[in-house]
Amino acid sequence: HAAIELTQVSKRFPGAAEPAVREVSVAIAPGEIVALLGPSGCGKTTTLRLIAGFERPDTGAIAIAGRCVADGNGTFVPPERRGVGMVFQDYALFPHLSVADNIAFGLGHLSSAERRSRVDDLLALTGLEGVAHRYPHQLSGGQQQRVAIARALAPRPHVLLLDEPFSNLDTELRTQMRAEVRALLKATETTAILVTHDQQEAMTVADRVAVMLQGRVEQIDTPDVVYHFPATRAVARFVGQGTFVPARVAGDVAESDLGRFGLENPAGPQLVELLIRPRDVSLEEDSEGIAVITSRTFNGAEYTYLVQLPCGVQLLSNQPSHVDLAPGTRVRVRCNRSRLAAYDADARIGLTA
Ligand code: ADP
Ligand code: MG
Repeated sequence: HAAIELTQVSKRFPGAAEPAVREVSVAIAPGEIVALLGPSGCGKTTTLRLIAGFERPDTGAIAIAGRCVADGNGTFVPPERRGVGMVFQDYALFPHLSVADNIAFGLGHLSSAERRSRVDDLLALTGLEGVAHRYPHQLSGGQQQRVAIARALAPRPHVLLLDEPFSNLDTELRTQMRAEVRALLKATETTAILVTHDQQEAMTVADRVAVMLQGRVEQIDTPDVVYHFPATRAVARFVGQGTFVPARVAGDVAESDLGRFGLENPAGPQLVELLIRPRDVSLEEDSEGIAVITSRTFNGAEYTYLVQLPCGVQLLSNQPSHVDLAPGTRVRVRCNRSRLAAYDADARIGLTA
């Protein structure tokens, strides 16, 4: 069975006009890391608090390791009996306890020998052996985060819930800790949900990304699929940069400035839009080309171009820095057809190969 399963879970706070969480259904496999990605206020923290048992769902059911912990019929297992570990944005370490004692905090049920051995294991796992006797204020940000994770993992929870755990770290350390935390979760075969509003973070740490918008999980899939084939236009707009290019439907093909594409379901609307990501477009100088470079910015690793298409759309394109095209240059635009997604009014529609 799933390590965590939410079935049609909804939650509206008293007095709120709209539910914070709407009919969320998600099943997470044992050992899997899922990122809950969405803008501020979309309901991520509320979803975690429902799983942890700090909030009750109005309707729907939550199961952890196959056991129902909350449902609309009055079942409610309190947080301390759910086998859930939590890591918060501010780490919430106990300032008056040493690193070792922070980690030992949830191990009161073990004998002192067992407790010492478990703490030693976690100190080794998180590389904190050398600072076991320090206090939180004597640690770097990265070390504090490791303590928070070690403390949450110590009682061997069924699942670990992390709420924006990297947001207090500076950019360089954040990148390093993402990789470190992923490696640690994989090494310990921990099932985890990572809440973040940062798409890069979601994609680098998680096996699957659940995109949450206005209380709903709009899509849950691998980072690659979420990025290249967003399920809805709203997901496409939130995740990553890209350009929507209009296409006119004629029979079973969609014609656009990016070329002609076959439609899986020709009985659709007359106008569709094609989504193309900046790295999936290549530009070639060509006096017969239909597009014109309007701007070029160097971002350090590559050039970002805006390219005027005949349809009026400005196409965003990233090119390696050896492709240097001045504004005003006429170009031919080629796109990676296998990475093109098409949309009707809202949802993704299929293109043929
Ligand atoms: P996120 O973590 O994605 O930023 P939250 O889950 O914290 O979003 O909040 C979702 C919505 O629920 C927001 O509109 C927020 O204002 C509201 N909300 C969160 N907690 C409470 C609460 N305890 N009481 C009332 N409204 C709340
Ligand atoms: Mg939050």
